Amino acid sequence: FPPELEEARPILKKLDDAGYEAYFVGGSVRDTFLGDPIHDVDIASSAYPQEVKEVFKKTVDTGIQHGTVMVLDHHIGYEITTFRTESTYTDFRRPDKVTFVRSLEEDLKRRDFTINALALRQNGEVVDLFNGLGDLKAAIVRAVGDPVRRFTEDALRIMRAVRFASQLDFTIEEQTQLALKELGHNLAKIAVERNRVEFEKLLQGQAAAKGLSLTFEANLLPYLPGKMDEWPAANWQKIQAELDGGRAKTEMAAWGILTILSPMADNEIEPFLRQWKHSKQIMQTLAAIAPVLRQHAALNKWNLYRLYAYKEDLLALTDLIYGSDSDFKKQMLTIFAELSIHDRSEIALNGGDLIKAGLAKPGPALGELIHQIELAVVNDQVGNDADAIKNWIQEGHHAND
Ligand code: ATP
Ligand code: MG
Repeated sequence: FPPELEEARPILKKLDDAGYEAYFVGGSVRDTFLGDPIHDVDIASSAYPQEVKEVFKKTVDTGIQHGTVMVLDHHIGYEITTFRTESTYTDFRRPDKVTFVRSLEEDLKRRDFTINALALRQNGEVVDLFNGLGDLKAAIVRAVGDPVRRFTEDALRIMRAVRFASQLDFTIEEQTQLALKELGHNLAKIAVERNRVEFEKLLQGQAAAKGLSLTFEANLLPYLPGKMDEWPAANWQKIQAELDGGRAKTEMAAWGILTILSPMADNEIEPFLRQWKHSKQIMQTLAAIAPVLRQHAALNKWNLYRLYAYKEDLLALTDLIYGSDSDFKKQMLTIFAELSIHDRSEIALNGGDLIKAGLAKPGPALGELIHQIELAVVNDQVGNDADAIKNWIQEGHHAND
């Protein structure tokens, strides 16, 4: 057992001892057999939620209507989900009803892929009803049961198939791949946010180039936001080359490579990200830095404050797109080195100083004043010197900004 599972073993044991069945399931079992790092430990049990709560002292109802109870153990929370089946999916995304069952087999049958349908007991016993171990060894993503039926029930599984192929560097079994193509149009019915989670995991996967190729092959792009099916092959080749090997370590980097190397005009990037329902932070950052990274905006003439404010993301994407030894990187570092401050904490006056000097009162206006000082100092409108800043405030420059 890897340490993450070893730590949770007593929980399974406790359920066992109380007369219930309990297993590790899902990603943690798959990743254990692959020798990959484990993200989250999911536990499935024959105990009903009420019964789980009777066995453990400290529990939290995190998703009790779906059968999930969180057990707190030495400050770690473990989600225990009652074995369940999911009946009829009329909306292609949510089961109309979940039913708790006592049989592990029923629970494993509802899972998406054979590699995700393994169960591991605390005594080391493995339950593998669909040859998930064989598929792990052969590096294959294969739907549990009839792929057409499984993707009809829940179209998100379509995105999950290409996501796992990318993350694990697996191929997709032939019937499963055919079903992706046949049912890809149902992706349009899935909530954008859910497709986005799978798509960005794909973009960050070690085999992102393959994951994207499988996505093209299954003709999924027309059913995802942003009209990416209209992008020329040359753009995609660049995007694939930059992403491959899991080079994008963050969502920002993944979406940065995708959008900056896309054929979209600078001003089309923000609307594209909005269609994908991104956070304001990702939309603003990428829309702001794309012109610099595309060299549409000369670095030394570009608003210094933007370089300062987006430094981390700019550097990360510069490394990815131009290389960490590139001239572009060197130019950027030179400009960063010449900035008068590199962080708000380097401003010669802090909030306390401003209050003591009678230049501000505590409250939201103080934060705004500090922001204006920061802007002025970074843009070299005032030197980073206590007296200079005081004069600058007293002269009322900040009010005109
Ligand atoms: P990750 O490492 O990304 O967390 P995971 O396999 O644990 O991968 P989760 O989304 O956390 O993925 O789901 C946990 C488990 O629940 C899966 O391994 C699978 O057995 C099952 N599962 C999740 N989503 C679906 C789905 N849409 N249809 C069927 N089974 C699913
Ligand atoms: Mg998981």
